[in-house]
Amino acid sequence: MLNDLDDLIAEVTPHLRDTVPRAGLDLGGRSTPNYVSDFRRPEVWISDDKLYCSVCAKDRTVKIDVLVHTGPLTRLARSKPRTSKTIIDTSEWGPSLFIFTCEQCGLHINGLVYDERSGTTLDTRVVLFPSKAGGLSTPHTPPAVTHFVDEAYKCQCVGATGAAVEMYRAALEQLLHEEGYQTGMLSAKIQALEADRVAGTAKPWAADLDIDMLTILRKLGNYVAHPKTLEALKELDSDTILGVQEVFQFLLADVYERTKEQEKLLSSLHDMHKRTGG
Ligand SMILES: [Zn+2]
Repeated sequence: MLNDLDDLIAEVTPHLRDTVPRAGLDLGGRSTPNYVSDFRRPEVWISDDKLYCSVCAKDRTVKIDVLVHTGPLTRLARSKPRTSKTIIDTSEWGPSLFIFTCEQCGLHINGLVYDERSGTTLDTRVVLFPSKAGGLSTPHTPPAVTHFVDEAYKCQCVGATGAAVEMYRAALEQLLHEEGYQTGMLSAKIQALEADRVAGTAKPWAADLDIDMLTILRKLGNYVAHPKTLEALKELDSDTILGVQEVFQFLLADVYERTKEQEKLLSSLHDMHKRTGG
């Protein structure tokens, strides 16, 4: 997926080669430096790889538009590192900006690549901001569940994995609350759902549900929320969060969309039945 910085760089680099901005600032004594910026933009191109589109709720091919390639992408595009200490090149400052456009639905996803210093190391990071709120929520997801899912997805998009897991856990609790499981902590709500499933009194969406999925999500949330070592915290990486995202997409589709589709099908069958005089 393109969310990964390495994939993004591999995708972007060939398109930048001919469009390196040259913006030298000579600090060698002149009072008004002859600053010329030349931020030429590469042509828009279609990605070979895919990016998650929160409107389509699927990985989609995207059109990539580099708006500004100052900062990290300028350094990347230069074939040789600079040696002169008297030249400050402002084109190496600041972030690089992208716009990704979903080929299917036209959603714009804003992308920003920036440098972040952490202790003594300088890391390059990528963050994404879809132009439509809602995160992974589906058309029939209730507003309160959407609220949590949106916050979770935003945390995920800026690489705050632990915070994202916490918000997905909160979204799960809200979902169960809306479905009538309102007593006790999250574990009690999951147990009540399982008891209903066993007794055959649960709603249709719960029939095929793998209850372990919910338990794992709950445990991950607890894992993040309680004190531990830094090493243990770092084990929650981008793979974990993609797994959690998949569980959520599956859950929302099952609880809110499949039921609606079944209702629609059922009512059209009823109508047909009436029309044919049954
Ligand atoms: Zn889309």
